[in-house]
Amino acid sequence: MPNKLTTLVSELTNVGKVTAGKLKKLGIETIEDLIFYYPFRWEDYRKITQIAQLQPDMPTTIKGVVQLVQGRRSYYKKKSFTEALIADESGTVKIVWFNQPYLTKQLKVGDVIFVSGKPKIDSYGLHFDNPTYEKNPISPIHTARIVPIYPLTGNVTQKQLRFLIKQSLGYVHLIKDWLPKSLKNEFNLSDLHEAVAELHFPSNEKKLEQSQKRLKFDELFAFELQVIKSKRALLSSHATIVKFQELDIKNFVKNLQFKLTDDQKKVSWQIIQDIQKEKPMNRLLEGDVGSGKTVVAAMVLLNTALNGFQASLMAPTEILALQHFQTLTFLLKDFKKIRLCLVTHNNYYLGSEKTDKKTVLDAIIDGRADIVIGTHALIQEHIKFKNLTLAVVDEQHRFGVTQRKNLIKKISDGTTPHLLSMTATPIPRTLALALYGDLDISILKQMPIGRKKIITKVITEKQRNEMYNFVKREIVQGRQAFLICPLIDPSDKLGVKSVTQEYELVSKKEFAKMHVAMMHGKMKPDEKEFIMKDFASGKIDVLVSTSVVEVGVNVPNATVMIIEGAERFGLAQLHQFRGRVGRSEKQSYCFVCTTAVKNISERLKVFSDTEDGFALADYDLQNRGPGEIFGVHQAGWPEFKIAQLHDIPLMQMAKQAAEKILSNEEYIKKYPLLKEKMSMMEEFHRE
Ligand code: ADP
Ligand code: MG
Repeated sequence: MPNKLTTLVSELTNVGKVTAGKLKKLGIETIEDLIFYYPFRWEDYRKITQIAQLQPDMPTTIKGVVQLVQGRRSYYKKKSFTEALIADESGTVKIVWFNQPYLTKQLKVGDVIFVSGKPKIDSYGLHFDNPTYEKNPISPIHTARIVPIYPLTGNVTQKQLRFLIKQSLGYVHLIKDWLPKSLKNEFNLSDLHEAVAELHFPSNEKKLEQSQKRLKFDELFAFELQVIKSKRALLSSHATIVKFQELDIKNFVKNLQFKLTDDQKKVSWQIIQDIQKEKPMNRLLEGDVGSGKTVVAAMVLLNTALNGFQASLMAPTEILALQHFQTLTFLLKDFKKIRLCLVTHNNYYLGSEKTDKKTVLDAIIDGRADIVIGTHALIQEHIKFKNLTLAVVDEQHRFGVTQRKNLIKKISDGTTPHLLSMTATPIPRTLALALYGDLDISILKQMPIGRKKIITKVITEKQRNEMYNFVKREIVQGRQAFLICPLIDPSDKLGVKSVTQEYELVSKKEFAKMHVAMMHGKMKPDEKEFIMKDFASGKIDVLVSTSVVEVGVNVPNATVMIIEGAERFGLAQLHQFRGRVGRSEKQSYCFVCTTAVKNISERLKVFSDTEDGFALADYDLQNRGPGEIFGVHQAGWPEFKIAQLHDIPLMQMAKQAAEKILSNEEYIKKYPLLKEKMSMMEEFHRE
């Protein structure tokens, strides 16, 4: 009998090598992993219905006696099926299972069984197709109860996993509850082992709710402990004061090719004031796609560099980092003394020179590089700065909480850089505050003057030719188009378009007379760089690409965005794609192509009717599953296993609890388990 949670699953009944391998793919190796593999939904099969009362399509459980079982093979010998007839005192019903020939051995005439599923009605009359059954169980786990449904991939079945999890729950008493009793009392939280047991196999709705509350709380509490700790560290730290270089900044603004919007001016001013303080800035700049965040960043980076301090700008992709490097090189061209450099994993520039890693890293440490632009390589590589004072992070929020520490390590004088995160993800203010407390938020609501609404249209197969003709006319007028496909290479997934195939096709057919190029993540950085340059300079008319161009890419002359296989992308992604056009005063179009023949999904309809990112986020919040929120993944907000980002009251509760725990060193000392958990989390975040 195993007595440790770290016992391997192979010690459990019915787990051979094959099953262990399949479980490993789900991330399950130990009993503990099984216990903490949470269901994502439940089906209520508690009520037992009389066979005579069965209704089609209603989730139902029946209890009856097997009257007949027989196996059959279909004519083509491809399929086998098992048929059974079940009776209770009110009547009989037929059941069909496909491709489970062993059932004829497991089920015997006279067996009492529970069957749970949705009865169907067709030419065979009312019957069950592939329902779950259990043979006269003392305590059922698959039927006649609230049944857990797990997120599964590969070929582990729900039934298999339920069976194993049920076994693993025999060891819940080994789990150590890390929450102090006083907290559990104060916030009315159940014990950890009760919570996990009830989450898997709830006795009733109330218990389920209570266990969800406890487990969600755990995640949020753990997260808040981290946030509050790093916030405290921030409060007691010092930043370098960056003075406002009024004359130069005014010149910069005057020489721009456009007039700043009032919002851009307001936000820039907020930031400039923030960094004049000795307390490190911690500000989030939210502005929908195309609202002009880059020029704000450019201005404050410049202001910092003019003070003689270093500043950095980090982007989530190589393509975007390169683009920022080019944009800033152009915007700051009059400031001859300010030297820019680019650092990605494969690409190094110092000023206008393409060069090698060492040259650039040396320039960063000795201070010749004033503004350092790059990808995550900036914090991963062994870069030391001379005096990094302002760090701007584009489209990647996670940075704010966990990686700041890494940055600080790169500065030798013990100061903390001012931090500005920029995002197009519309995170509601209440949520941002609940998560991060005293984070300052600036919002760019206005779009630059003259921007037109992007015309978005869902395109069915029938309208495809019409669309190509339209796009051709746009190109003839000098515009450019993106064509996004979900995959790089063709796959056997029927009908899903790939970049390589679509490129072949359209460059020979629809856009035969035009310059077509393709781009995807598997290409070499240099190749991508050339293609993006050619697209930006207008040499390429149509760019067939994967989602590598999803965020940030700015080619104002592109006015057409075609998205193939649109149903495969989330709303946030679609909105980001659409944001690649409509970046000038020219009328832009977004064509959302779907292979759905009958019903265009509601999501795509909502997308084509809604241009406002905030409104789309709201829709997503109400219609997506747990743990999901508009763009969270891309923006790098924390991802939880079970907690929901929009559960603000619970989040506030967790924050309150975390503040309490951290308010007193003695308190933590009394709870070694809590201390252990916290240091485990620090390890985790250090990665
Ligand atoms: P995002 O907020 O999506 O990062 P960008 O900063 O890339 O947007 O700006 C999008 C485009 O709008 C760029 O071509 C930029 O030069 C232009 N732009 C920015 N601000 C203004 C403005 N005030 N007036 C006109 N065009 C602007
Ligand atoms: Mg941007």
